[in-house]
Amino acid sequence: MKSKVAIIGAGLAGCEVAWLLGKNGVYIDLFEMKPLKYSPAHKSPYFAELVCSNSLKSINKYHPSSMLKDEMKALGSIIMESAYKNRVPAGESLAVDRDRFSRYITERLRTLETVNIIKKEVQEIPEGYDFIVIATGPLTSESLAESLSKLLGDNFLYFYDAIAPIIDADSIDKSKVFSGSRYERGGDDFLNIPLTKEQYFNFIEALKVAEKVVLRPFEKEKYYEGCLPIEVLAQRGDLTLAYGPMRPVGFDDRKIGFKPFAVVQLRKEDEEGTAYNIVGFQTKLTIKEQEKVFRMLPGLEKAVFLRYGSIHRNTFISSPKYLLPTLNLKDMPGIYFAGQITGVEGYVESAGCGIMAGYFLLCKIKDIPVMIPSSKTAIGAMLSHLKSENRPFQPSGIHYGLFDKRDMPKNVDKKIWIKNNEEESFKAWFEEITKHFIF
Ligand SMILES: Cc1cc2nc3c(=O)[nH]c(=O)nc-3n(C[C@H](O)[C@H](O)[C@H](O)COP(=O)(O)OP(=O)(O)OC[C@H]3O[C@@H](n4cnc5c(N)ncnc54)[C@H](O)[C@@H]3O)c2cc1C
Repeated sequence: MKSKVAIIGAGLAGCEVAWLLGKNGVYIDLFEMKPLKYSPAHKSPYFAELVCSNSLKSINKYHPSSMLKDEMKALGSIIMESAYKNRVPAGESLAVDRDRFSRYITERLRTLETVNIIKKEVQEIPEGYDFIVIATGPLTSESLAESLSKLLGDNFLYFYDAIAPIIDADSIDKSKVFSGSRYERGGDDFLNIPLTKEQYFNFIEALKVAEKVVLRPFEKEKYYEGCLPIEVLAQRGDLTLAYGPMRPVGFDDRKIGFKPFAVVQLRKEDEEGTAYNIVGFQTKLTIKEQEKVFRMLPGLEKAVFLRYGSIHRNTFISSPKYLLPTLNLKDMPGIYFAGQITGVEGYVESAGCGIMAGYFLLCKIKDIPVMIPSSKTAIGAMLSHLKSENRPFQPSGIHYGLFDKRDMPKNVDKKIWIKNNEEESFKAWFEEITKHFIF
């Protein structure tokens, strides 16, 4: 008997799910609310719209995003196919003509007779389907968000406005920081940056005058009190940060060598400590200003940013709590999630997540055992973020910190080691899964 499948949202993720299932002979209803209704950021009637930048990031082969793109190409990604066909010159980045890019994908999907496109805003989880894939993105329409909220309980959706930057550990000058935790709660998990009074006030001044990203009209300045951007805190008073995320209490001043006026904490992003989050430094400073202002902190003069702080409305589920590793709900396994709504972040990651949701669902429909890619592959590393349980779950794009490096020898070049392992692990996984499906 044929399975009845609905995919909601023909964005970057939804198109990948539809493409993979459709190519493998699964009949789908693909619901998209455009052009009848647009989110505040979407403008084009075509599928897989790039709502902001036209860049799909780096193509330097050692860059995590590049590894992910290469894996997606091998997995038959429609987003990659279109990106390379509609590329515009952009140095070491993959940038596209956004209109042609989206048009191409829309047309390709229309050629699949297995894909039935329905232009409609889905306001409630539809009935009568064996499987549903929700791929409605960070700007999921409000009625559907409400319906999801009813389905999963009030707290299932998180809204956040700002995230903190992540720094490559190798770029931190360790001679200027010390390891330890406030009141020794948490061993040596943090790196701490002590600041003198002068350094603190210079930093606050720079923060106050730094250029901020201008919000779009629909993005109200509505922040959670516990997650305020650092520059908003600084505007409230010069000492607010010294009493907040930069409070200098709970440390042994003898270990520091002086009594600090403020302390910035860097929290490990992965077990191996290859990447660090600047605690409480969620921000909407522009990228240029983040580099300038945060590099004023002792030890971060040469900081390499793996992820910049950023801000925009975002709707996502707490995936570690609600999803199985196969991207379907623990309690309602017929409902899958794909794209940014799962807590991956970025165009490429959302599309990659769509491919994986498609693969997992295809295994279910065709009754083939699922093979989850290891976190040595880029796509596996990206998915591993959706299982992170140690801290409040926040969306993230792919970065080095997500790769499995448990058996990485000391004194090797991290990027080369990750790349070599990535290629090998992906090849082995891909060879197995291509025995069953068309990619
Ligand atoms: C303002 C903004 C700027 C961004 N800038 C960047 C950037 O520069 N670079 C980057 O890498 N990432 C950026 N992102 C993140 C980017 O949106 C996502 O990475 C990516 O588009 C998400 O893909 P997706 O498929 O999950 O969702 P989307 O691409 O947003 O697709 C979701 C689709 O679902 C449809 N939909 C929504 N609700 C319903 C419904 N109820 N019924 C039917 N259809 C529905 C929408 O119309 C849309 O077509 C930005 C996000 C926002 C909000």
